Amino acid sequence: MYILTIGSHSSLQILHGAKKEGFRTVLVTPEKRVKFYTQFAFIDEVYGYKNEDEAVEYINSFANNGILIPHGSLVEYIGPERVNKIKTKIFGNRNLFEWEANQKKKMSLLKNAKIKIPEQFENPEDIDRLVIVKLPGAKGGRGYFIARNKNEAKEGLNKLLEQKMIRSIDEVIIQEYVVGVPMYFQFFYSIILNRLEIIGIDIRYETNIDGLRRLPPDIKVDPTLVVIGNIPAVARESLLPTVYEYGENFVNTVKELVPPGMIGPFCLESVVTDQGDIVVFEFSGRIVAGTNLYVNGSPYSWLYWDEPMSAGRRIGREIKLAINSNKLDQVLT
Ligand code: AMP
Repeated sequence: MYILTIGSHSSLQILHGAKKEGFRTVLVTPEKRVKFYTQFAFIDEVYGYKNEDEAVEYINSFANNGILIPHGSLVEYIGPERVNKIKTKIFGNRNLFEWEANQKKKMSLLKNAKIKIPEQFENPEDIDRLVIVKLPGAKGGRGYFIARNKNEAKEGLNKLLEQKMIRSIDEVIIQEYVVGVPMYFQFFYSIILNRLEIIGIDIRYETNIDGLRRLPPDIKVDPTLVVIGNIPAVARESLLPTVYEYGENFVNTVKELVPPGMIGPFCLESVVTDQGDIVVFEFSGRIVAGTNLYVNGSPYSWLYWDEPMSAGRRIGREIKLAINSNKLDQVLT
């Protein structure tokens, strides 16, 4: 059996883990990255594509003997229409992609799960506090902006329209900007073991907002929120039971709203306030790049496995367990 993924995001970790679990590994990447990826011995085949159609064709040549592991760059690189043409089975629930791409659907799912979310403003006229304006899709925060009031928000929205970054303001989501510390809670839901695991926590490192503290306070620079890396975190242990409950609610709600439900890794991106509230401002229904920190296991994955268990390896392990118990179809869509 071949495990495939697109060369970006968390592909190194995914294929490193797949190899550890005994699979053949294939990386599909834009041609200019072939040299970079060829240096890793755990990748059996590196395929460089010239265009996205070629990539899909190659992925589909593994329809009978391969599994594609999706990550945050799959839809961004290949495009949503082409992803629909992928015939090779995907580990996880491919029906979630559409929910993830649509900011409004995304937040409604969290709300349904009774998870605390930031206040949302449908109409810029109603804005009465500090807000963040977000663009659709997983663009790593590009184009997002923070506005102090409704006038600043309207100005920013007009700019996005002028620059054709959006076609209408219905595409954006306007959220209360929650002040606190960010913590991104990484989970793995195992169908095969029938359990939810907390597999790690990270904080995204974003430019330029995370660099502003280096400046004297009188120098005013507008913050941007472009993700460039991740830093590790552990949470106060007393926060974990609530975090876990959020994860369980999420799994139950996905099961109800997005059949066949949650399979494998997901993440609840949160801000923890000084009142101890955990406010979730988005979710990822697949592996997040913050798990790259834990290629040798995280402080949490050790508690479940007592062996180095990255999210990538956990995916490989789940596939292996599924194959061994004749349940592979339950973890693929
Ligand atoms: P997102 O694409 O939703 O993950 O947002 C990108 C970044 O914006 C996050 O990593 C946070 O730093 C920040 N952010 C997003 N939403 C909020 C919010 N409601 N309150 C505070 N910070 C936020």
